[in-house]
Amino acid sequence: MIVVLKQQITEEQKSKIRDFLKSRGFKVKEIIGQEETVLGAVGTNRIDIREVAILEGVANVVPISKPYKLASRELKKSDTIVRIKNVKIGGPRIVVAAGPCAVESREQIRTIAKLVRDAGAVMLRGGAFKPRSSPYAFQGLGEEGLKYLKEAGEECSMPVTTEIVSPKDVDMMLDYVDMFQIGARNMQNFELLKEVGKTGRPVLLKRGLSATIEEWLMAAEYLMASGTDQIVLCERGIRTYEQATRNTLDISAIPVVTKLSHLPIIGDPSHATGLRDMVSPTSLAIVAAGASGLMVEVHDNPEKALSDGPQSLFPEQFEKLMRDIQALCPVVGKSLERIPTAKAEIEIWSSDTNRQIGSTMNVAFQGDHGAFSEQAIRQVFDDQVATLPCRMFSDAFEKVQAGEARYAVLPVENTLGGTINETLDLLNSYPNLTVVGEKQIRIVHCLIGLPGSSLDQLEQVYTHPQGLAQCSRFLETELPQAQALPFFDTAGAVAHIAQLRNPKIAAIASSAAARYHKMEILREGIETDSSNFTRFYVISREEHATVMRSVMPVNRVAMVFSVGDHPGALFEVLQIMSQYGMNMKKLESRPIPGKPWEYSFFVESELVEQARYDKAVEKLIASCRSFRILGTFRSDR
Ligand code: PEP
Ligand code: MN
Repeated sequence: MIVVLKQQITEEQKSKIRDFLKSRGFKVKEIIGQEETVLGAVGTNRIDIREVAILEGVANVVPISKPYKLASRELKKSDTIVRIKNVKIGGPRIVVAAGPCAVESREQIRTIAKLVRDAGAVMLRGGAFKPRSSPYAFQGLGEEGLKYLKEAGEECSMPVTTEIVSPKDVDMMLDYVDMFQIGARNMQNFELLKEVGKTGRPVLLKRGLSATIEEWLMAAEYLMASGTDQIVLCERGIRTYEQATRNTLDISAIPVVTKLSHLPIIGDPSHATGLRDMVSPTSLAIVAAGASGLMVEVHDNPEKALSDGPQSLFPEQFEKLMRDIQALCPVVGKSLERIPTAKAEIEIWSSDTNRQIGSTMNVAFQGDHGAFSEQAIRQVFDDQVATLPCRMFSDAFEKVQAGEARYAVLPVENTLGGTINETLDLLNSYPNLTVVGEKQIRIVHCLIGLPGSSLDQLEQVYTHPQGLAQCSRFLETELPQAQALPFFDTAGAVAHIAQLRNPKIAAIASSAAARYHKMEILREGIETDSSNFTRFYVISREEHATVMRSVMPVNRVAMVFSVGDHPGALFEVLQIMSQYGMNMKKLESRPIPGKPWEYSFFVESELVEQARYDKAVEKLIASCRSFRILGTFRSDR
């Protein structure tokens, strides 16, 4: 059952409730959510829930209708984020684990580890105990294989996952594995589940060959009831009458599980299809269906692989797949996890002894909580930073300049609306601030109103002018009666209507803004053009820039310059770039304040190798009237 606690509950009341539940044979787990705190109570005993409902501090008691309790979304509304060393699975990220089916030798696993890491995988897989259909097939290297796997993972800063097949191996394997894998054939090996669950170590739980989704979630429940809540589910195909593929990938299991459980789910296209040519298309389908990642078999020499060669990708196929996933990520509102990532910056910052104890890193943005800029911050820095809402773009710059925020994340360009000039102009006027990163996110607009309000009763809709423009078709066709009113920012419009509490007034903003202000999404995806992306710059003070740049290898440069007043002046500058192989990605001109009819040019270009770049910059400085590098950063475009 779920015991919803009153907001003002005292610690004493809470422990009395716990004690009462424990005395009745229940296991109790506290779940602190954004909206409410609950105690989940599970056990075999029956109890009249009224006995709990009358306890002091209890707001409500709700029985959990599903047979799996701890794993159910009913108990925990927010997504569980599973942490495997420096990698997190769940939430707005796509995590790719890759490696061979089996560890075959020290050299083999080290080679493949490096190769998949360089292509963008963040976890390493490789079996040391292989449950094979034939007793005469390669059974794995056992503990020796685990040693090689661990070593290869450490060399490449990748946590490792590998299958456990027997409860007697648990203690031995703890020395080697970061995440236990429970294979399809063992999904209902309850003794194994209990022993693995007791360790508290993260578990990758594959779906059984012919398990229903409910049986699968019951297996997760076994693990959770034994002591771990760090579980990632893995859809790897089920047995059907179809013979064309090794198994049948149950793609719909992904949204179904996401609805039923708070645990993250990933997909294994390799075992699902059994055929390497099927792996890439099904991988994309898995990501598109809403999974949190993939586990893919890759081999440097699949033809010679000791197991599952036919389904193992060639290295170049895996590289191509990673690029395709990268392109798909913003469409599903996620971001590909990378090693190293910007998050490493936070770890460096956290270990800085000069900072105030207990302080969090501040990242400034323009707008209110729930703004698209705040989503971009979460994708770059995860949830370990404090977001600092600012009224104006210039306030965000000021906060960074004054050291109140370590970074600011500000929009620089939208695929429909074009350049956001204010960001460029401000960058130009803060010589001490520099661009250190970039993030693009997809803009999905929602019509947001009071719970229960309907479209036909709406009389006014508030949002940022960009939002109005981007949703014009919806407004014209579906809300012809409503007045469209410009507001300072999208999320702020939601805060505004949340205060008005008038069912005739709605706002347009992100789903995050609706959640933040506890408002209802009346319609999702109302933007006229679905290819609506905004690109953000991550800005910091010059002295902090090296850390970020060292953890995120840079591939772009942004610069601003002005040229002399003679024929071909701009052409000369562009010619230098061309000469040095600098592929230009963007060119924008802006008026120079105080100099009527004179312009600055903003250019973004691909970076070239260091010596060439230095030479090019030297030439550019000589050729331009004024020249400044605004920053170098990593772009995934
Ligand atoms: C594996 O991932 O190595 C494996 C054997 O997969 P499954 O248990 O899904 O068959
Ligand atoms: Mn395999």
